[in-house]
Amino acid sequence: MLAEKRLQQEPLTWIQRLGLKFHLLLCVYCRRYVKQIAIIHRQLQQYREAAFTAPNEQVKQQWEAVVAAYLKNNENNL
Ligand SMILES: [Zn+2]
Repeated sequence: MLAEKRLQQEPLTWIQRLGLKFHLLLCVYCRRYVKQIAIIHRQLQQYREAAFTAPNEQVKQQWEAVVAAYLKNNENNL
């Protein structure tokens, strides 16, 4: 599906781009689909940013424990 390809940021040829634009003009379902995917995409990105900039204390401690355990188990291989 062309809309899918576009969202995965695969390059489209100009004829495919034109075809997709034209299709989106005519097809309410794909238009809706593209809009929904864009919203999901944006929210995922916001979620990811929030997760990385403000880790909650518990998550942070879990990660520190994981990293510490990993370093301990691999200290001879580093
Ligand atoms: Zn369609």
